[in-house]
Amino acid sequence: MIDKEEARLSVLRQLNLLDTPPSESFDRITRMASLLFDLPIAAVSLTDHDRQWFKSRVGVDHWEIPRFKACCGEVADTGAVLVVTDLLDSTQYRDSHLAESGIRFYAGAPLVTSDGYTLGAMCVLGTQPRQVTDQEKSILKDLAAMVMAQIDLQHAVGRVDPATGLPNYLRFVEDLSDLSQDYPEGHRHVLSTELVDLEQVNALQRVMGPAYLEALSRTAAREIRNQLGRQAILYHIGPCQFAHIETGDRTEVLQRATGLRQALMGVTVNGEAPFMLRPVVGVAAIQLGRSQPDTVLRHAHSACRDARDKEQGAGFYCPSSDSLYKRRFGLIAAFRAALTSEDQLYLAFQPRVDMSTARAIGAEALLRWQHPELGNVSPAEFIPLVENTSLARDLTDWVMASVIKQAAFWRQQGLSLRISINIAAANLEEEDFIERLLGYLDTEQLPLSAVELELTESGLISNGLKARKQLEDLIKRGIRIAIDDFGTGYSSLAYLQSIPAQVVKIDRSFISELGRRQRSHTLVRSMITMAQELGYSVVAEGVESVEAWDILQSLGCDEVQGYLIARPLECESFMHWFRGLGRGAEWTSSRIVPDQ
Ligand code: C2E
Ligand code: MG
Ligand code: MG
Repeated sequence: MIDKEEARLSVLRQLNLLDTPPSESFDRITRMASLLFDLPIAAVSLTDHDRQWFKSRVGVDHWEIPRFKACCGEVADTGAVLVVTDLLDSTQYRDSHLAESGIRFYAGAPLVTSDGYTLGAMCVLGTQPRQVTDQEKSILKDLAAMVMAQIDLQHAVGRVDPATGLPNYLRFVEDLSDLSQDYPEGHRHVLSTELVDLEQVNALQRVMGPAYLEALSRTAAREIRNQLGRQAILYHIGPCQFAHIETGDRTEVLQRATGLRQALMGVTVNGEAPFMLRPVVGVAAIQLGRSQPDTVLRHAHSACRDARDKEQGAGFYCPSSDSLYKRRFGLIAAFRAALTSEDQLYLAFQPRVDMSTARAIGAEALLRWQHPELGNVSPAEFIPLVENTSLARDLTDWVMASVIKQAAFWRQQGLSLRISINIAAANLEEEDFIERLLGYLDTEQLPLSAVELELTESGLISNGLKARKQLEDLIKRGIRIAIDDFGTGYSSLAYLQSIPAQVVKIDRSFISELGRRQRSHTLVRSMITMAQELGYSVVAEGVESVEAWDILQSLGCDEVQGYLIARPLECESFMHWFRGLGRGAEWTSSRIVPDQ
């Protein structure tokens, strides 16, 4: 009995009706009840733990009365119509709060949910004793049914996706918690189906319009339902995203996920295969009673993301790839703080040496990040992440400002070096990029020749017209541009013709193979020859051995950079190295003359 009452109260609370403002849709029914019965008082009365609360009322001033000895409380307990023709004649209600306030007559019909819980009563009250006909009883029951229809309607709004008519995320959360109550130790799987890569949803909406996305969702929903059968509940949990719950072991569930994905590959919209359709199905385990609905769905999304890299387009949640994703997300968030902290970001400088004179003529500035908890985070890890966010601008700004300040300081110390700064392709899309760069140089009174900008080959190719114009403008103004990681992009050597840059930096992957593979030798030789014939100066990155140095020299390479000469060094060590005192000095002194 107590359990049942607890379940009833929990249903009532989930409906979020208690202590909400009055609503005309309920008041209309209450007014009608008062008129039909020709009685001064009518109410929609909800039975809470220890009170009757009126969602709607006519002829009463207060919002609630105690549940103790309230007629509506009895209706809630019994779930049946209650008529008390004269409260003063009733042993139960003679001394009730209602009777004391002058009420003599009560009639109430239960407000019953579709799953059988009584929330309270639709009631009419009078100050005189009164009889009720059978017809009046059935009118009262009809009015109660109207109240319930209104409650259901209000509850359904916000729980159904308007495009597909399917229950939405909120319903998923509710249903999962119901399932957990019914099978507290049970195991299930949630299958999340994504029709397109979620990162592409916006692009798709922009290109094809929202109506297209809705049509795609509707068609796909129909196909998924066909696959699942009538019994399964399919939820529409986000744009182009669906979820449903399945029983069975991992093998069975994976088989069904793969089959579902396969079926979705054939979906058409208006008779055509949808643009950008790439369905995947991610599966996550649910331990009923223990798994949180939010976590379960997050895991399923994570599985969807991983499934994008799998041929079968379906797979299980993998905690390690999830934690990698979380780490990445955390890094992006932490980088924002790093930019304004005093001690997390700093620069390292790696010398660049002219092969003909064996003199260090410049250095590449490389960003370093000492994360307060994770320690040193490699730029190869955090830079590609940050470059995809709006922080790309702040990152480059920080580096430009710091490099130019450092270069100016070294100039005062008598070290005139050209420092190369790595920038992201996205930076060239910024309208004021050149202005900012020139501004920093101007503040430190440095000539344009004090810096060089490095852009990766793939970044240069993927650039739009605006970026290309900005690049040409930079060169026109006399700033040197280097193509970084040359050879790793998808371009052919011929595309060099169209890139307005002065320097080509051959990627370290080719250089590390030098002397070991004839093929690399041939490749590097043709890269150097071709680039130089087109007027580029050639830098070899990642030179680690004397052998590579010698080969590069014999091939006429212009400059080298690599561990053989020096690792990236912090400002002070760099200064030491440069004065011929630091690490690598032994080899340096015999082969390279650091500029004094
Ligand atoms: P990158 O611009 O190609 O820089 C060269 C990378 O190769 C550096 O890695 C450097 O430490 C490493 N390296 C140099 N010589 C050798 C060698 O002989 N052997 C080996 N194994 N490695 C060598 P690092 O500092 O980890 O930077 C990785 C990448 O991160 C850079 O590649 C660059 O793309 C990016 N990056 C670093 N700093 C910045 C920055 O300030 N801004 C931007 N946008 N990107 C940066
Ligand atoms: Mg570089
Ligand atoms: Mg490079």
